[in-house]
Amino acid sequence: MTHDVQHPVPDALLMGYATGALPQAFDLVLATHVSLCDDARARLETFEAIGGAVLEDMDVADIAEDSLDRTLALMDGMQPVAPPAPSSGTFPTPLQAIVGGDEDAVRWRSLGGGVKQSVLQSDKYGTARLLLIPAGRAMPPHSHRGTEMTLVLKGAFRDEDGVFARGDLEVADAAVNHQPIAEAGEDCICLVATDARLRFQSLLPRIAQPFLGI
Ligand code: ZN
Repeated sequence: MTHDVQHPVPDALLMGYATGALPQAFDLVLATHVSLCDDARARLETFEAIGGAVLEDMDVADIAEDSLDRTLALMDGMQPVAPPAPSSGTFPTPLQAIVGGDEDAVRWRSLGGGVKQSVLQSDKYGTARLLLIPAGRAMPPHSHRGTEMTLVLKGAFRDEDGVFARGDLEVADAAVNHQPIAEAGEDCICLVATDARLRFQSLLPRIAQPFLGI
């Protein structure tokens, strides 16, 4: 399954996913996105190939012992690229595994105004939840303390960055102020991950370093 890539996911996030260094909530969003987006999956495979080639080229005697330890620790965390497992229904396979089924298995809780949510995972590093916005309904305008990733699974929403439809991923941080509004005609269901504070942002340079050799 593929879709028009209007909003490509940042490289740093794919690298973080490849090394298993992301908080669990973001892992779930990336795994789900990759299973919907051929472009993201292809780029992820490239990063994994680069990571492997960098490791093969290393002369072990030339690298500091702690650097080798760090590299090996990163390899431990690497996850194989999941092939796009076939899934009938609204939710891709990685998400169905967490929900315990498709859309009709979700236990929604009302947030008022017809908006509903279902928290899927939560720990001190982040929370993953499903969000249902009724067709045509606007969310309150907001900015962000940390990072927010929103993956559209059904319907579409529009905000200051454009239109996001099934398979599209919006990454918003403290610099982003937006007001998502569900497009008319169909309720919009999204998978949303948020982190605590800015921990996630400070993680990214450390993730990218061993891959890029900088
Ligand atoms: Zn937001």
